[in-house]
Amino acid sequence: MEAMRRKMVWVKKQDFQGWACSECAWAFNPIGPLVAGSIEEMKTHYEQQRDEEFKSHLCAEHPRATKNPL
Ligand SMILES: [Zn+2]
Repeated sequence: MEAMRRKMVWVKKQDFQGWACSECAWAFNPIGPLVAGSIEEMKTHYEQQRDEEFKSHLCAEHPRATKNPL
């Protein structure tokens, strides 16, 4: 398994819009309360959460239902 080939890609579908993995079905769903603060702080928080979840997910645990590329 070539984990290093995976990339984070922006996905726009009817039922989902956001960041997803290029190699599996993982997608980032921001959860939890928004942090109070400036737009800039919220953006930074969102990006940190997204990057951490992307780095820590295992593609093998998010198999795609179909083989269609995103
Ligand atoms: Zn993945």
